[in-house]
Amino acid sequence: MRSSFDSDTEAPRECDVAVVGAGIVGLATARELARRHDGASVCVLEREARICAHQTGHTSGVIHAGVYYRPSSLKARLCVAGARELYSYCSERGIEARRNGKVIVATCEDELPALEELERRGRENEVRGLRLIDSDELRELEPHASGIAALHSPDTGVVDFAKVAASFAAEVRELGGRLVTGCAVRSLEPAPHAIAIAHGGGELRARAAILCAGAWSDRLAVACGAPDEPRILPFRGAYLRLRPERRDLVRGNIYPVPDPELPFLGMHLTRRVDGEVLAGPSALLVGARDAYGLARVRSRDLRDTLAWPGTWRLLTRHRRTVLTELRAAASRQAFIRELRRFVPELRATDALPGPVGVRAQAVDRRGGLVDDFVVHRTERAVHVRNAPSPAATSSLALARLIADQVEELL
Ligand SMILES: Cc1cc2nc3c(=O)[nH]c(=O)nc-3n(C[C@H](O)[C@H](O)[C@H](O)COP(=O)(O)OP(=O)(O)OC[C@H]3O[C@@H](n4cnc5c(N)ncnc54)[C@H](O)[C@@H]3O)c2cc1C
Repeated sequence: MRSSFDSDTEAPRECDVAVVGAGIVGLATARELARRHDGASVCVLEREARICAHQTGHTSGVIHAGVYYRPSSLKARLCVAGARELYSYCSERGIEARRNGKVIVATCEDELPALEELERRGRENEVRGLRLIDSDELRELEPHASGIAALHSPDTGVVDFAKVAASFAAEVRELGGRLVTGCAVRSLEPAPHAIAIAHGGGELRARAAILCAGAWSDRLAVACGAPDEPRILPFRGAYLRLRPERRDLVRGNIYPVPDPELPFLGMHLTRRVDGEVLAGPSALLVGARDAYGLARVRSRDLRDTLAWPGTWRLLTRHRRTVLTELRAAASRQAFIRELRRFVPELRATDALPGPVGVRAQAVDRRGGLVDDFVVHRTERAVHVRNAPSPAATSSLALARLIADQVEELL
């Protein structure tokens, strides 16, 4: 089956594999399939007018080394493999990726057991160069950071994930695949030997579909007959950026010891690949899956969030964190206070408003934040239902796992 259409502003009527969503996961998967199957037609359908309009275009840009994740989880395996492949890929394609290292800083005795557990996990995950260091060594690596001990990961780095994703998109097209923007997928219907995909410009029949729809992944999955669990809840992540004259407070990446109850890594300081220093992000449950502005509320998104039993259980279980996040959203002083625990010289006046992203976080019915990557199969479709951080880091390895699942349908 070959695709037949004139331009990338128009979707074909037929193709072998349709990928929905042109974030880094969808584009990496389309690239993987186009490389594996010479002559197969791959078509990426993206609702927005440009690629990487959502999560992929709004990250900290950190290439995670794989420290945090439960050994043998998908996150652990795919992050460690994905980060190594990503560094090689960037060097081959001339994309700047810098190993500027990370310190995870314990500021009090109470945090030491969690720091040691991170070291244990990191070693089991075979993260390279990982080392527990004392406060003097911390000062040598990050002269403005303060703590009683830290975990140093020299293999952590930074990259512009939107550039990486754009490079994947270019490869898809070089290999004969198609990328159609401004094309929202509305529904999917399995038919004999194919799946019919209704979109804004008509209908596309594919032998298999891969849904990499980020914050909207649960809706497309349920439309295909997948279970309604997990539900995606949108968490707005706001950053501050340091004034240029205060960027020297941070050399690489300075992170806190995270709350083991939450899959978020905590508000951190990151020197991006372009030299800008970001502080954040916060994590506030919001009323729209694209709530880049706090005031944006979409009735369907809000209804879906409020009607999900897991939402209420989550809010009750983590009420202290909810209050901290609300304070950080309301006041720059409160935001900076979180970061001053490990960079005491930081002042509210050092920071300017920064970018905002919205995380797609899967939550189960019992209010549990789903930690690992989740990929489901339905008839003729593969659904990526939870691809939070470090999915950008892991994208090349995650793409292989998704493509393996599609093989049986082709
Ligand atoms: C604030 C923040 C910071 C982060 N920092 C890091 C980091 O430092 N390192 C890291 O590894 N990860 C980080 N992440 C996580 C990372 O961004 C995501 O894991 C990754 O981008 C997920 O990629 P994706 O392709 O699944 O989703 P997205 O990039 O969200 O792409 C999904 C795409 O699907 C499209 N779509 C949805 N519905 C439809 C439809 N019906 N029809 C057509 N198209 C549709 C959307 O428009 C969108 O373009 C961060 C995330 C956030 C929000």
